[in-house]
Amino acid sequence: MTGTRWLAEYAWLPDRAEPTADVLIEAEDGRITTVTPLGGTGTPTAGVEVLGDATRLPGLTLPGLANAHSHAFHRALRGRTHARGDFWSWRTAMYDVAARLDPDSYLALARAAYAEMALSGVTCVGEFHYLHHGPDGTPYADPNAMGAALVEAAAQAGIRLTLLDTCYLTATVDGEPLAGPQRRFGDGDAQRWADRASAFTAGRAHALLGAAVHSVRAVPAQQLATVAGWADRRGAPLHVHLSEQPAENDACRAAHGRTPARLLADHGVLGPGTVAVHATHPTSADVTLLGDTGTGVCLCPTTERDLADGIGPARRLAEAGVALSLGSDSHAVVDLFEEARAVELDERLRTRRRGHFTPAELLVAATAAGHAALGWRDAGRIAVGDRADLVTVRLDSARTAGVPPVGAFFAATAADVASVVVDGRQVVADGRHLSVDVPRELRTAIEAVTR
Ligand SMILES: [Zn+2]
Repeated sequence: MTGTRWLAEYAWLPDRAEPTADVLIEAEDGRITTVTPLGGTGTPTAGVEVLGDATRLPGLTLPGLANAHSHAFHRALRGRTHARGDFWSWRTAMYDVAARLDPDSYLALARAAYAEMALSGVTCVGEFHYLHHGPDGTPYADPNAMGAALVEAAAQAGIRLTLLDTCYLTATVDGEPLAGPQRRFGDGDAQRWADRASAFTAGRAHALLGAAVHSVRAVPAQQLATVAGWADRRGAPLHVHLSEQPAENDACRAAHGRTPARLLADHGVLGPGTVAVHATHPTSADVTLLGDTGTGVCLCPTTERDLADGIGPARRLAEAGVALSLGSDSHAVVDLFEEARAVELDERLRTRRRGHFTPAELLVAATAAGHAALGWRDAGRIAVGDRADLVTVRLDSARTAGVPPVGAFFAATAADVASVVVDGRQVVADGRHLSVDVPRELRTAIEAVTR
């Protein structure tokens, strides 16, 4: 790959409270080699002569956005589950789709879903993957065929992926066996999960392998340490759904006499390499525990809103020292700008006050913290040595015209993303994906699994 130069009208550089005007960014072999602010903080200078060969990026250029929590197949449920019910009735509809997928249809659906993410500025996704086996629980000839389909889907969509291979063994916190559509999630026990996961070599430059505990419902307490140890030995990220529903807390207290966070901590699951997803209903002691152990939290506000989960204590978590990242989870919405501003706006609804998070804090949650949560510590900042992920947002759309660049997270939507560069390679230009017809492929892939 040859070197490339871009001139960003505005770029949001690390540790800056707001974007900088006129920034020259150069990259070679997919890494940023120089970052040069040319003009200071004033109006961008039009047409700097010496930069004739640089690609101009009008608007605001951000580091790559990281979608730290995804279940790709949930994209097929968008708009289909709204009649009634709660999280648990939604889950029944979700299982209907899960039952219909095979490696080929999953590749098609995930490719389209990841391409939609690319269009929205996502350069890396964390796929929390538990559809491991055939519908009745029988492994495929390649027991990692479904994971391999997801790795390939991300490659075809042009983004990086961390495959969070998920251990999912039981249906309830007191050990009910998996039944019906859940059977394909299970490996039998944590050691067999580890054996299968160890046999999978992502083997591709765009992919990393991590681990996940589905939840305290799905992995018996005595087996949690097996999953945690596997991730720890490999230095791999470890994710876990935590306290998304009060019912999970109640069941865990009844079975184990402690909260889910305390149970996970007691079995070595929490720590600096771990990310708790949701953390919508933690106790005050849980919040302290997450902070003290260095555990991160991935908030998924649009999904938590869609599923009527509740509002997580984002500011209290941040005060406790928890690194916050963002995920679109069920893909009811794929728009990291919406996820980011929801972190602030949901706090406003709860407290009836404004000003809980600065725009720069929201930027970090959507970028560097998300990439770090997925094990890519060299991504998410426009800085020398980092991966050349550049996401450019229009400042001249109907939504963003007249908005100061620092206000982008409160104005822009995914539809305002004009250009996306991943590892130095252009994936989206003029708001179009260069290799995937995203609406057409989404429609075809979703029809195939919902008929
Ligand atoms: Zn999830």
